[in-house]
Amino acid sequence: MRKFDIPNKYESSIISEVKQIRKLASGKEHRKDFTPTELDFGPVRFYTARHFGFCFGVENAIETAYRIIAENPNKKIYLLSEMIHNPTVNQDLQDLGIQFIQDTKGNPYISWEKIKSEDIVIIPAFGATREIEELLKTKGIAIEKYDTTCPFVERVWKRSKSLGEKKYTVVIHGKIDHEETRATFSHAAEHGHALVIQNMEETKLLAEVINSEDPDELFEKHFGAMKNRTPGFKASQHLAKVGVVNQTTMLSTETRAIAEFIKDVLASKYVELETKQYFADTRDTLCYATSDNQASLRELLEIKADFAVVVGGYKSANTTHLVELCEEKLPTYFINGADKIIAKNEILHFNRLTKEEISSQFIPQKEKVNVLISSGASCPDAIVEQVIQRILSFFDNTKDIDIVLKNLKDELMTE
Ligand code: SF4
Repeated sequence: MRKFDIPNKYESSIISEVKQIRKLASGKEHRKDFTPTELDFGPVRFYTARHFGFCFGVENAIETAYRIIAENPNKKIYLLSEMIHNPTVNQDLQDLGIQFIQDTKGNPYISWEKIKSEDIVIIPAFGATREIEELLKTKGIAIEKYDTTCPFVERVWKRSKSLGEKKYTVVIHGKIDHEETRATFSHAAEHGHALVIQNMEETKLLAEVINSEDPDELFEKHFGAMKNRTPGFKASQHLAKVGVVNQTTMLSTETRAIAEFIKDVLASKYVELETKQYFADTRDTLCYATSDNQASLRELLEIKADFAVVVGGYKSANTTHLVELCEEKLPTYFINGADKIIAKNEILHFNRLTKEEISSQFIPQKEKVNVLISSGASCPDAIVEQVIQRILSFFDNTKDIDIVLKNLKDELMTE
């Protein structure tokens, strides 16, 4: 995997060393090893997920943005929307003079009239809709030079194109108002029909539509109020051949379950046909980083711990999914920085359902405390280290970090 040149302030020497030790110990099995890492400081033990933190697409986008800033000191530089869903990284870019054109839902901060052909517009890792790409081209802006769309998102677009050309309807498992889903939808819509489905509940409604005697009427009843399909989409015609792709940060297990469910529904309907005549296999379009992070978290959750801390931006879909998985098992605190840990007995954390920060009791009074820790794909390791250090500060007689890392190395390298 390529090593990106990202600012040192996002890196953590401790986390980098932990990841390096794990990588060396796993050898060739590196990407298939999802076992957690134990960092035993004595009175407190941290268990980190095997894979967490910046993914390929995020590092690529950050490296490119900083290069563009360095190479163009006299130009106006805009970002289409947030670079990634991390407030620290976005604020750093704004502090360097970058302006965001719109918010994450596509509402404008800056009028398009203000943007001139000599300006630079960076396309974020989520990509852009075809409409925005065309608008920028019409303005004479060289988008290819400043496009940080993740190659794994582009892979979804390419597959959507080929599905559309073969008359499959592209079912996108994603959140309708997420910028990546809007971009994928618009790219897919250029080549055929597309439909956004947010979860298994909606998939079951779609199955009812597929099996209905009057699919158009039932589709209207279930989905009529939503803007989730391409113009001219008719359930009676366009659900006979389907391929499922996703917003790359959704739960990959849910995407797989949705795809299997639709395949089974179509299999019962078209018993006389071969599978490929009604369903396209798209499993290889799932993002490796999302799958690895979620699989690592599932293994982490096998450990009996007092609580979990998940670090990341509150708008980050992939981080929110990690929180969801943790909440099924143990008390979980979703924070975007170490400053949210107010005291040993108080943490200010984000409630993903009410979308508010709330205050809770934090570290229990125990002789030994076990903490699970992970972070989203847009969260710098430096912030995770700050969280670890903040928690450590509440304990006496903790082991020195060098000793903890040496113990980890000795244990893993001699196995
Ligand atoms: S989560 Fe996956 S698709 Fe999204 S930016 Fe990261 S590597 Fe790319």
